[in-house]
Amino acid sequence: MPTLKIHNPHAGSVIDEIPADDAASVADKAAAARAAQPAWASLPMADRLACITRFRAAVVAQLETLAITMTRETGKPISLSRNELNGLLPRLDFFVEQAEGAVRDEHVFDGGGMHEQISHAPLGAVVNISAWNYPWFVGCNVIVPALLTGNAVLYKPSEHAALTGLAITRLLHESGVPANIMQCVVGGGAVGAALLEQRIDGLFFTGSHATGQRIAAALATRLVKVQLELGGKDPMYVRADVDVRAAAESLADGAMYNTGQGCCSVERIYVHEAVHDAFVAHFVQTVKAMKAGDPMDAGTYIGALTREPQIAVLQAQVDDAVAKGAQVLCGGQRGPGPGWGFDPTVVTGCNHTMELMREESFGPIVGIQKVASDEEAVALMNDTRYGLTAGVYTKDESAARALLAQLNAGTVYWNCCDRVSPRLPWSGVGDSGIGLTLSTYGIQTFTRPKAWHLRQPG
Ligand code: NAD
Repeated sequence: MPTLKIHNPHAGSVIDEIPADDAASVADKAAAARAAQPAWASLPMADRLACITRFRAAVVAQLETLAITMTRETGKPISLSRNELNGLLPRLDFFVEQAEGAVRDEHVFDGGGMHEQISHAPLGAVVNISAWNYPWFVGCNVIVPALLTGNAVLYKPSEHAALTGLAITRLLHESGVPANIMQCVVGGGAVGAALLEQRIDGLFFTGSHATGQRIAAALATRLVKVQLELGGKDPMYVRADVDVRAAAESLADGAMYNTGQGCCSVERIYVHEAVHDAFVAHFVQTVKAMKAGDPMDAGTYIGALTREPQIAVLQAQVDDAVAKGAQVLCGGQRGPGPGWGFDPTVVTGCNHTMELMREESFGPIVGIQKVASDEEAVALMNDTRYGLTAGVYTKDESAARALLAQLNAGTVYWNCCDRVSPRLPWSGVGDSGIGLTLSTYGIQTFTRPKAWHLRQPG
């Protein structure tokens, strides 16, 4: 029987070992999901909505236990685990409020005895291969609208958030979603790859660009709908007219929240030369005041990295930047203790020859570069293979709107960052992915529009 080891990143040790899937059990689950899906799709929408409403109530009732589970296996500070679960609730509310309208039949023509309409049919049995950094958010962004629109879901949580994935699945089952309709598949990359070999009707992935590319290649000849939500190298620009302290505090939070392990974490900052030094001073002061430590302590803001190998990635980016002339103003090395910490790190004097400004860091580290104009800032922000989020801090709304229009990113921000709304689509440009979740488009994406041509007899 295969098993999966569960680690505690703060302690740097194994805390559990759970049964995992193999190729045979993956095939069984996929076949069962496919067989069960038509009956689920034929239920009235109200029945599926009731399941998600009960699921929401279960999350609220068990929130503290669920937060502890997530913190133990990911190293996410407990206050942030609670925030994620509380932040999930308005997303669930959005899906419940909007699902029926998003997939309602559309009657688009009536004339000469001819009626034309569009229905939104479920895709069928869809796979969700997911990441660990916000396991409730990224999991439920797919699972909930997919279930509501009548699909069966084969869900592979990250091996670094498997207990959370199992908890999501258990609560959905307890809320009335049939076991064969919501299947959890436990394991690492090999188990994910086994899922791709099944007969599936859609693949919804959240994770790194490298894995996304492998998945797209594996499915290339299969004509299966593929949606990829990948990484970013999210830039922000601070203009000369800002309230420097407020901008520094907001951006420090955007860079360091979730220990910098967010796809939309601020990864690089361009600051106008007129305010550069003052901004950097406030920024470093804010970062130095952030409390790092045991993720189970309520006051901890910086936790452990969820994956130990990321320490070497961050160290290599710092060393490369320093070798090319950058200055480390705080942090710059592995944190104390046996666990997988990295000290919150601010690097200035950066430029685009440095890996720190080009490749996703996914940790508590940010590079800052001085710029002389809006044009230079826009050119540098767009000088990337990614395009998830980007933004500008300024008092001037029309200047902000003009700049945001030029940014190649799925999401743009004015005077805010690291923010996701259920009402807006979440998507990427370039190597940040294809497809989207959230908003009403992120409900329709789990369906295919079906065209009806209906001619009255005679
Ligand atoms: P990852 O690519 O290492 O793993 C993601 C998932 O893919 C895991 O479940 C893993 O087991 C599975 N997997 C690995 N190899 C596979 C294979 N060959 N076939 C099928 N499945 C396979 O990514 P991660 O470390 O879990 O997540 C971090 C990345 O996710 C970052 O790049 C981050 O930016 C990105 N991310 C993006 C978004 C977004 O909305 N765009 C959200 C969260 C995270």
